[in-house]
Amino acid sequence: MADVPAPSTPVSSWRCCWCRAQAGTIVLDLGDQPAADDFPAANAPTPDRTFGLRMVMCAACHLAQIEDDPTSAQEPRGVEPEALVRQGLDAVGHLADAGIARPGGRVLEFASPHGGSWLGPLAERGLHPVGGGPADLVVDSFGMMHDADQRAALAARAACLAEGGALALHYHSLATILRTGAWNALRHGHVAYYSTPALVAMARELGLVAVAAREYPLYGGTVMLVLAAAGASGAREHPDVTALVAKEIADGVTDPRRVATLGSDLLESVAAIRAYLRGVSRAGLTVAGYGAASRTAALLQCAGVGRQDLSAVADASSAKQGRMLPVSRVPIVGPTELVALRPDRVLLFVPDLLPEVRAALPEIEASGGRWVVLDPMPREVQPVT
Ligand SMILES: [Zn+2]
Repeated sequence: MADVPAPSTPVSSWRCCWCRAQAGTIVLDLGDQPAADDFPAANAPTPDRTFGLRMVMCAACHLAQIEDDPTSAQEPRGVEPEALVRQGLDAVGHLADAGIARPGGRVLEFASPHGGSWLGPLAERGLHPVGGGPADLVVDSFGMMHDADQRAALAARAACLAEGGALALHYHSLATILRTGAWNALRHGHVAYYSTPALVAMARELGLVAVAAREYPLYGGTVMLVLAAAGASGAREHPDVTALVAKEIADGVTDPRRVATLGSDLLESVAAIRAYLRGVSRAGLTVAGYGAASRTAALLQCAGVGRQDLSAVADASSAKQGRMLPVSRVPIVGPTELVALRPDRVLLFVPDLLPEVRAALPEIEASGGRWVVLDPMPREVQPVT
């Protein structure tokens, strides 16, 4: 196990994006990284621009957040993993079962660049989408994390609530990031990394109480927290919320020293990826990748993986095909071209895609290739026999 880097303090101009406090701890440092939407054309001039990427935990409100984001990238709309769509269906079912999504109600969605809209399934259950408040149900799945001013963002969502309305927030929890060592969740464009205790406390400051919480297996573990006006009849913190808050605190989500162990997770997975690539190279195997997500660039950058290691990365998004991953300049190809390369190993940068890529591209394994999930430690997937 590598040494845990000593927590340090953020730059003097830093202010918390929720409470404006100026005291915090740098809990993770990925060095210089490209912007999230930077997929340069093959003939674009080098070097690609990079910007410091660090996570800070506020000493006052414990919200984990990006220290500074000079990029103003419009995050590219990726292809929706089926797992994301399925989670949306599950969440809508749970909201309906709990009587929170009711037929005839007005629903307002704060959209996310990650896709996965809940409006379709909510409309199927008889709710009416509206373009602005007041709404009986306001939903936000992976949207609010992108807002530079978190207080304004939560207040804007709360302001759209009709009397007796509910706000459902769905997020990749910091507890999951810690448990799975997913240091590569940190990226430009993602401002906030919510723990349930931090988010419940933020909501309380705006007069909201968490009336429901539900966990999902997506991305290793996500949470849907349902908030309602604290004054509304019957609105009180649900025991599930209280239990989840206690569990996450016990897991260390509000302890900057515990969160800073992501730094050693980074070192360990980078070393494991390098060792894995050395091994397959010695064995004379060819390696390609799948999933040109923004997190892919950070992982390649941190592990020093380049074209010498990786012939191409496939992505289903036609907008990315023909372009390059930034810095490493590994070309992005379509799935058909990936199959034509007949790679011995395919590094899967978006682990949740595994079931669907195996089903869509059976040729990879049929010709003797193996999928290698990076979550973010490398794990070879054994073929079904
Ligand atoms: Zn704060």
